[in-house]
Amino acid sequence: MTLDRRSFLKLVGAGVGAAGLPLIGRAAEMMPKSGKRVVVVGGGYGGTIAAKYIRMMDSSIEVVLIERGDHFVSCPFSNLYIGGILKDLSSLTITYDKLASNHGVKVVQAEVTGINAAAHTVMTSKGDIKYDRLVVSPGIDFRTEEYAGYNASTAELMPHSWKAGPQTLLLRKQLEQMKNGGNVVMSIPLGPFRCPPGPYERTSMIAMYLQKHKPKSKIIVLDANPDIVSKGKLFKQGWAKYYKDVIDYRPAKKVTAVDNNKMSVLVEGIEEIHGDVINLIPSQRAADLAVKSGLVGEDKKWCPINMGTFESTIHKDIHVIGDSSIAGAMPKSGYSANSEAKVCATNVVALMNNRDIVELSGINTCYSFITEKEAVSVAAVYKLDNGKIVGVKGAGGVSPDLSTTEAIYAHSWVKNILTEMST
Ligand SMILES: Cc1cc2nc3c(=O)[nH]c(=O)nc-3n(C[C@H](O)[C@H](O)[C@H](O)COP(=O)(O)OP(=O)(O)OC[C@H]3O[C@@H](n4cnc5c(N)ncnc54)[C@H](O)[C@@H]3O)c2cc1C
Repeated sequence: MTLDRRSFLKLVGAGVGAAGLPLIGRAAEMMPKSGKRVVVVGGGYGGTIAAKYIRMMDSSIEVVLIERGDHFVSCPFSNLYIGGILKDLSSLTITYDKLASNHGVKVVQAEVTGINAAAHTVMTSKGDIKYDRLVVSPGIDFRTEEYAGYNASTAELMPHSWKAGPQTLLLRKQLEQMKNGGNVVMSIPLGPFRCPPGPYERTSMIAMYLQKHKPKSKIIVLDANPDIVSKGKLFKQGWAKYYKDVIDYRPAKKVTAVDNNKMSVLVEGIEEIHGDVINLIPSQRAADLAVKSGLVGEDKKWCPINMGTFESTIHKDIHVIGDSSIAGAMPKSGYSANSEAKVCATNVVALMNNRDIVELSGINTCYSFITEKEAVSVAAVYKLDNGKIVGVKGAGGVSPDLSTTEAIYAHSWVKNILTEMST
């Protein structure tokens, strides 16, 4: 079923959500006068912001946001749930109704199954939708084929919890059910991966949980990288101060195989390590949709883009933002995705109105909790230099020490950014 503009609008107007495209939100019926449509795929950190800002900057453009879920759970702060600080994920969960009612974004809950770049069409589980420009922010998927023995059951036994939701709940449940004296094993892949400091924050949160609830237990961290990837000095400082006997950090230990039955992992195919709970974070790449739509480069991992407009260098009129894209020095973070989305939205509107594009100015801050009340941060500003996104020298840096103030900033940051994404 291909829905051209007229059929799509007829479908919306007829209100036949159950038969075709279930549209969330009342403003879905508003029609564009301009005849221009942007489709945004992915209602997470990048996609919500791109959709909202395009509408804010040019309300004559129809924006259709397609997301597989009817809600989104934030990865930022999900480590606090795993560590037992948050009692549930409700404060990290957003819905899309206000993007529709406040901004006229047409929200479609569907799985995007493919993109036909030549025909400017997105294929979904509910029908095909045409676009003038497409913004893709589908996040990441895993290169599980790199682990011998990894199969469909592995993530249920050894959760990655690297996409927030059921996987996050599972890891915490496993920690709660583990015997006092049991070992937790965490495997960190080689970069680049989503949220460079994320695994080390999780290590801290699990160590904090063990210390409080399973004092005879330990966490063994098998890091494929030669050292802590982000804020290393601060994490080491915090671990030495609080978790000396709880964290066994082992750098340059690449997990290459798993054994579901024995609940063990193999380092470089030789050293077998058993875990009562195993948090296997597999190596990563752009989301499946980006791979199957031919948006990834020769490495088959990440999507090359024009770093000024985020337009794919492979397919015209398709912009890729967030974790899936190669955004130069900007890390794969929610803050980066938010910042990229705003530049991308501005330039999509400029391109659709034949106006000059703006020069990129990017920003990122990542907070990491080390204890319930103390956090650390890294911040940076980015600019375009000869077509590449680079860090601005002298701007940003890491926080000097563990601090309760950083923790307060972090709580404020997550509340603000999730509110921005959902209102
Ligand atoms: C444990 C952890 C902690 C983190 N902490 C921080 C932090 O403190 N600060 C920070 O800035 N970042 C943090 N991050 C990183 C942050 O979560 C990601 O960088 C961010 O979510 C990337 O945004 P995105 O839009 O690329 O992808 P996402 O936010 O994952 O959004 C992708 C969306 O696309 C949808 N989607 C994908 N494919 C399809 C399809 N085919 N059809 C329909 N919908 C689809 C998905 O359902 C999803 O909703 C953390 C990550 C983890 C794992």
